[in-house]
Amino acid sequence: MKFALLDPATGARPVTGLAERVGTDDVTVTLKRGEEKLALVPDEPSHHGVVALLLASLAADEHESVAGIGHRVVHGGRTFSSSVRIDEAVVDRLGELVALAPLHMPANLAGIAAAQAAFPRLPQVAVFDTAFHQTMPPVAYRYAVPTDWYTDHHVRRYGFHGTSHRFVSARAAEMLGRPLGELRMITLHLGNGCSAAAISRGAAIDTTMGLTPLEGLVMGTRSGDIDPGILGYMGHRLGLDLDAVLDVLNTRSGLLGLSGLTNDMRTVEEDESPDAQLAVDVFCYRVAKTVGAYAVALGGLDALAFTGGIGEHSPIVRKAVLDRLGVLGLHVDDAANQRLVRGAAGRVSSTEHPVALIVPTDEERLIGADALALAS
Ligand code: AMP
Repeated sequence: MKFALLDPATGARPVTGLAERVGTDDVTVTLKRGEEKLALVPDEPSHHGVVALLLASLAADEHESVAGIGHRVVHGGRTFSSSVRIDEAVVDRLGELVALAPLHMPANLAGIAAAQAAFPRLPQVAVFDTAFHQTMPPVAYRYAVPTDWYTDHHVRRYGFHGTSHRFVSARAAEMLGRPLGELRMITLHLGNGCSAAAISRGAAIDTTMGLTPLEGLVMGTRSGDIDPGILGYMGHRLGLDLDAVLDVLNTRSGLLGLSGLTNDMRTVEEDESPDAQLAVDVFCYRVAKTVGAYAVALGGLDALAFTGGIGEHSPIVRKAVLDRLGVLGLHVDDAANQRLVRGAAGRVSSTEHPVALIVPTDEERLIGADALALAS
């Protein structure tokens, strides 16, 4: 769990915090204030305990400077298509969405409750990972399954990483000096989780993640798209129930599954074994194939934006993806691609139309901006 005290106007972050292994006895909480780094010990290791501790660790002047609190909430279902100020009714509606993201929503709700207890008078704002994708048309979000799965059980594509796709598309338009409303763009969020979004003149029209964040591209430990028939087949072969097979697809697949080594792209890239090299190839092939599909969905392509840990830092992946996209008129600029590392922004294609860019994402900043906008 990440935490930041931030000024949305400048992006300055005087205090940041990170909690790992929340909910276990091995929980660690670190708070950074400038150069100072503090290890904190929560009274209880739960999400509620950790959030309460982080908020209580703010100094008096920092405490006073807080104008609002923004929460990243993983699932807004069909209910929330933009950020929202949290009140009792919103909390009730979030409770109804737990079934759609049973691992994350209880943690989100605990964080909100802890922040409300620590700052009872301050506005709290929910910023949804799914909201940006709510402009998708039915042709993109419906699955070809019985209609009552959709009407009665809300089975449809929702998409995730929406805050990142929204931030990156707006920033890419700024970098190009063109209105977002004129651009057909594909944003590639490639990190431990990976997704692509097709954005037509500012509105998301398709994305690779679905009802859950398991669909779509190859990820660190997640398979992305597979034949759903594999679930039944491997369940029978291995004598596993459905939850156990899904657990393999979520936690032991993707780069980790293919390489047999790790979920970490940097390590996979450096390893010379055929399995590791195949893992990089499958990853990049799937990304490039998706860009081709989304160029069709958009009716043409003006800009392609790379972001996330891999998108921002891996020249190898960017080149391998762009080398497959000559058919769209995209060509890598090798010198720029090698030069732009460590979070630098800029153009990595030799072509200007379409253009390929690196756009470092900053979800925290957008969460802060939404919180401030809805707080006042
Ligand atoms: P994120 O989830 O956005 O933090 O991204 C994490 C992923 O970015 C991991 O797979 C890292 O291995 C990958 N990554 C970070 N830096 C590099 C790099 N220099 N080269 C290749 N992959 C990197």
